[in-house]
Amino acid sequence: MSDCIFCKIAKGEIPSKKIFEDDEILAFHDAAPQAPVHFLVIPRKHIRNIMELEASDISLPGKLLNKAQELAAAQGCAEKGARFVINCKSDGGQTVDHLHVHVLGGRTLSWPPG
Ligand code: AMP
Repeated sequence: MSDCIFCKIAKGEIPSKKIFEDDEILAFHDAAPQAPVHFLVIPRKHIRNIMELEASDISLPGKLLNKAQELAAAQGCAEKGARFVINCKSDGGQTVDHLHVHVLGGRTLSWPPG
């Protein structure tokens, strides 16, 4: 989608601190990190949010989580864990309308979120 910031990152049209990419997904550091480890894993395909995921894309969340888990471990979160978050629409606190998994780690996070 032409005006989507994450689509632009996926196409290399705007810079990001990329951690991983393949033909379907990419991961990059969050621009406003909320924890010592904070990165995002996104599909290249523009899917607005998890509620708009279509049956034909049902394998994508598994791929996103698998890569999120692998990268979290590589960044030192294997022992103490991390938080894996998908915000959805306004009530869920989503600010970028392109499906993404947040991974936050490296400190103890409180629950519930505000
Ligand atoms: P959400 O509120 O769940 O939609 O999360 C969107 C996230 O994208 C926020 O944590 C932002 O800090 C992050 N973000 C927005 N623009 C960029 C960017 N250009 N590069 C990296 N992260 C970004």
